Amino acid sequence: LTHPPTLDAISEGRMPHHDTIWEVAPRVAGIDAEAGEAHDRINPARPGDVVGHVTAANPSAVAAAFAAARPWDDRADDRAKALTDAADAFEAHAGEIFAILAREGGKGLPDAVAELREAVDFLRYYAAQARQMPDAAPRGIWTCISPWNFPLAIFTGQIAAALAAGNAVLAKPAEQTPIIADLAVRLLHGAGVPEDVLQCLPGGGEVGAALTADERINGVAFTGSTATARKIAASMADHCAPGTPLIAETGGLNAMIVDSTALPEHAVRDIVNGAFRSAGQRCSALRCLYVQDDIADKLIQMLKGAMNTLTLGDPWSLSTDIGPVIDAAARDGINTHIAQAAAEGRVLHQLAVPPLGTFVSPTIIALDGIDQLEREIFGPVLHVVRYKARDLDKVIKAINGTGYGLTFGLHTRIDDRVELMVNRIHCGNIYVNRDQIGAVVGSQPFGGEGLSGTGPKAGGPQYLPRFAAPAEAHVT
Ligand code: NAD
Repeated sequence: LTHPPTLDAISEGRMPHHDTIWEVAPRVAGIDAEAGEAHDRINPARPGDVVGHVTAANPSAVAAAFAAARPWDDRADDRAKALTDAADAFEAHAGEIFAILAREGGKGLPDAVAELREAVDFLRYYAAQARQMPDAAPRGIWTCISPWNFPLAIFTGQIAAALAAGNAVLAKPAEQTPIIADLAVRLLHGAGVPEDVLQCLPGGGEVGAALTADERINGVAFTGSTATARKIAASMADHCAPGTPLIAETGGLNAMIVDSTALPEHAVRDIVNGAFRSAGQRCSALRCLYVQDDIADKLIQMLKGAMNTLTLGDPWSLSTDIGPVIDAAARDGINTHIAQAAAEGRVLHQLAVPPLGTFVSPTIIALDGIDQLEREIFGPVLHVVRYKARDLDKVIKAINGTGYGLTFGLHTRIDDRVELMVNRIHCGNIYVNRDQIGAVVGSQPFGGEGLSGTGPKAGGPQYLPRFAAPAEAHVT
């Protein structure tokens, strides 16, 4: 970051915006639009802390946004300049961004710093790419729908690519995180993105549904659950022109294999990070660990020890390792899963949780196989399966058998095994002897296979071209 974050101020307890209440309402082409339901957004770590008053878009606002939407006809260089200016503005607003990520999204400072960096990198990367393809023509109107777990980085990445290619964008942030999205949009407008080119429509699934059921849409970029991606694909099949692109980045049942040659200290570090960091609310997070039986007892013992050093608490405290999950509904869904495992005597370890706020106890659950997991548990829950060396083939089949293919981790010191896994595991992102933590824009693009997504990978060279019209379509 060129503008250093406000770490000093925060460590001295002077967090900026600790009591700001943000106001979010839909705007169409820069003018206040008809509004739907209003609600308060509450800090998930502090039940009394009102973070913002948020008003959703209603069907009239969506209709007006479609009518006002206009592709960005500035030259590619000028579009790129506005996007890089926006990147500078994001950095200059680091303090406000960290405050919103913490108070609206429950993110601790290390995660918030990484998230801001990713958003800024997306803006600069796609701007640079746009400069290299000055003759690319936009497709028209893109709907961009994003999840709450990377409410700045994913929201910004989708929009930046669509804008860099010259499209009009109708953006819908997740209902849990409209405030950070609203700030991002204001900064993009301030940097020169026209208000009828980029419009943001806060609201829930019904707003997303309206934004994906219209024949004027020329493409949809979606990141979120596999179930929602299916609904969007069905809606587009009913309403959009055949062949309208859907870029979907969805969920996963991410596994890691640790064999008996692994360095246990490294494996434990990466397992704890992969499973519990960000309270397990990363799409890349480790859900199911396969550990070879010869080392399983020792490794699980070490894991419990490492977990016991984790501090759960308010994300604003610099001593916090794990913050809350996003809301009460998420907490209750995860706790139902844990309670069922407890009733079956499969819980191996748990930590205590703070009394207030939507915290979930980091938990280890024993399983016989990944096929026992019926759904992605989007929280700090690690499932552990012991396997025998002779069953490695079955393990690979079981992991592939989930149908998902987002991330996979491997800890081994056998070179041939790395090659075997890379060839046989069907998965978009494979991590060897390191933690399963996300993407690096430009150098480590991120995307899934199978039920985990359509590709192209975000932050890679193939992503932006999908937002441009195919070359033959704009030959005159
Ligand atoms: P979600 O699918 O519930 O919601 C995502 C977005 O879709 C939200 O903005 C929501 O309002 C909207 N939506 C809901 N119903 C809709 C409909 N019928 N039509 C259109 N839009 C609709 O997901 P979530 O809970 O916000 O996010 C968590 C999920 O996202 C997890 O499954 C996670 O694995 C996945 N995820 C994937 C990636 C990736 O890169 N593959 C990254 C982050 C999150």
